[in-house]
Amino acid sequence: ESMQADATTTAVCGYCSTGCGLRLHLRDEEAVGLTPETSYPVNLGMACPKGWEALRVLDSEDRATEPLIRGSDGKFAAVSWDHALRLFTTRMKGIQRQHGPDSVAFLSTGQIACEEMAFLGALAKFGMGIKHGDGNTRQCMATAATAYKESFGFDSPPFTYDDFEQSDCMVFIGANPCIGHPIMWERVLRNQNDPEIIVIDPRRTESAMAATQHLQIRPKSDLALLYAITNHLIACECVDRKFINNHTEGFEKLCEHVSRFTPDAVAPMTGISADAIRQTAETIGRRKAVSLWWTMGVNQSYEGTRTAQAIINIALITGNIGRPGTGANSITGQCNAMGSRLWSNTTNLFGHHDFKDSADREKVASSLGIDPERIPTEPSWSYDGIMDGIRRGDIRGLWVIATNPAHSWIHQSEARNLLDRLDFLVVQDMYHTTETARHADLILPAAGWGEKSGTFINSERRYGVLKKVRRAPGKALADFHIFRALASYWGVEEMFAEWTDPEAVFRIMQRASEDQPCDITGIQGYEQIDRCGGVQWPWTEADAEGDFQPEQQRRLFADGRFYHHDGRARLVVDDVTAMPEAPDAEYPTLLMTGRGTVSQWHTQTRTNKSPVLRKLYPNEAYIEINPEDAAAMGVENGDQVRAQSRRGSLLATAMVTPTVKPGHAFMPMHYEATNQLTLGHFDPHSRQPSYKDCAVRIERA
Ligand code: SF4
Repeated sequence: ESMQADATTTAVCGYCSTGCGLRLHLRDEEAVGLTPETSYPVNLGMACPKGWEALRVLDSEDRATEPLIRGSDGKFAAVSWDHALRLFTTRMKGIQRQHGPDSVAFLSTGQIACEEMAFLGALAKFGMGIKHGDGNTRQCMATAATAYKESFGFDSPPFTYDDFEQSDCMVFIGANPCIGHPIMWERVLRNQNDPEIIVIDPRRTESAMAATQHLQIRPKSDLALLYAITNHLIACECVDRKFINNHTEGFEKLCEHVSRFTPDAVAPMTGISADAIRQTAETIGRRKAVSLWWTMGVNQSYEGTRTAQAIINIALITGNIGRPGTGANSITGQCNAMGSRLWSNTTNLFGHHDFKDSADREKVASSLGIDPERIPTEPSWSYDGIMDGIRRGDIRGLWVIATNPAHSWIHQSEARNLLDRLDFLVVQDMYHTTETARHADLILPAAGWGEKSGTFINSERRYGVLKKVRRAPGKALADFHIFRALASYWGVEEMFAEWTDPEAVFRIMQRASEDQPCDITGIQGYEQIDRCGGVQWPWTEADAEGDFQPEQQRRLFADGRFYHHDGRARLVVDDVTAMPEAPDAEYPTLLMTGRGTVSQWHTQTRTNKSPVLRKLYPNEAYIEINPEDAAAMGVENGDQVRAQSRRGSLLATAMVTPTVKPGHAFMPMHYEATNQLTLGHFDPHSRQPSYKDCAVRIERA
């Protein structure tokens, strides 16, 4: 990095959904350094440590540099691409011949480019006849997607980051943007409206400490609390009757449903006083521009979808949508989770169409130039359904792309057993050392961020461009080129004749997006996206001809029209359900898991390769315990403790801190062992795993 740069270019960051613009400093067309891009409308010259260190992790020694196959001695041996792709095809086709086409599945990711997701989904489903495939976005965004679809008629986060600066009241529910989305938090700090900042979270997080109000609720009492806030908004006439009448459906049912959730009734469930609940409702009711933001505390829950919809309901009944500084706003996790939601061809058909709708199948088939008969008439099984399929022996071949289920899937020991049960496991990844790669039969070495091109979509629906600024090490190939090669080995290259490079695929995506809420037919190409600082969807041909410029911030629903056929949003309510594994005498502590730091990402496959990022975060697993509990256990800060659940146990360093209440504990998800404790249970609507609640026992080790 000491080398002098001779040129620069820009690209969006490849970790989180903020989608910061980075300026890459090049020498002989290879990136030798980077700085945050000052003109990019997302990050305004800022980046978090992960972004700053994005190049360093590409140089790691454990990069997968050639295809590896596991021999009969259990050891990996390097083979040629030709050998690897032949093996992939022979084994997967063999499994399909013997056990049916649905016996092979894939698990992909929110970390690869839209064009790669589109290629993978089309190749697998239309080319290889694979019906079941899902993404790790099931672990982060499925709940928000399901909630939006039911409430708004389309999976459509309505906001733009400018809303952080325009609000006069922001409510963060199960979200810790200080750590999870630090550059978004910077936007909050720039807000000049003296905003009320309310954080609803069972932990006293960094964001809670910086807020004007923290409601430290009992874990998983958020749905009841939101209903009580709704109850009081109605009781004190803090609702927007005109908006409700003109733009929503289901208000009477909502009123009836929340009538029993009075602040007094809900106070004991939540641990928040009735007065504080009333005061929060009145603040929301009084302020002019209220935005409500949520992330994993809501999404990763056994009643996440209904909780997200309770947030959406509050925005709707108070008319806080479609105006600057408002919205019911799900902040996405991964850099391209939004791309996965539109383009992965898993839950939704290519371009957020419906597998079950024959007109949609015809439309997608014609925009791709394929026979509609090749399109499955059912959506894929969700991630947990695929795991169940492996358990039953229905799925025997699995292709894992840029994700790490052996670390990240809930109830880890079971997940690992299932991976071992497969007849053939292919792992396509930048690194040959991931926990999942240890179980693989075949490893395909992939290029990473910075070594390939394409687009990502960030949390505010903004397409941004990534660029190839480094050569991938050894024989590693961009996922795009691996898919292209596999199409040829599988014998379906004709179907993908037009899919020559990422930008050609982008044009196919544009065609398929026509007349969808996510229509991008007006985008001129990568050059325009790059020049405009990203382009938010929708950007239709009509938009391109109008006065509004792609550089301007765009929020949805300014006209109060939602995507249901009647144009009205739905107010959805449901019963509050009991926590599946509440603490008891044997396992008395409630364990929450989540993001522990700004410097590490997910299962640390990349971020752990940077000495700088490693220094910012303890390498040894730690667990947060309240001082009262610690005293009762005879544990002091820094002691080793054993945490045990009904599924497994682990050793961790005690971090004695009042950020968690007595009876609660918190452990970051970045450590390999964390999911040995978690309980495999799911939101029934989104099938998203509930990572935030399981019962454990903690003792001195
Ligand atoms: Fe920005 Fe997220 Fe990248 Fe950090 S990880 S630089 S916040 S996009």
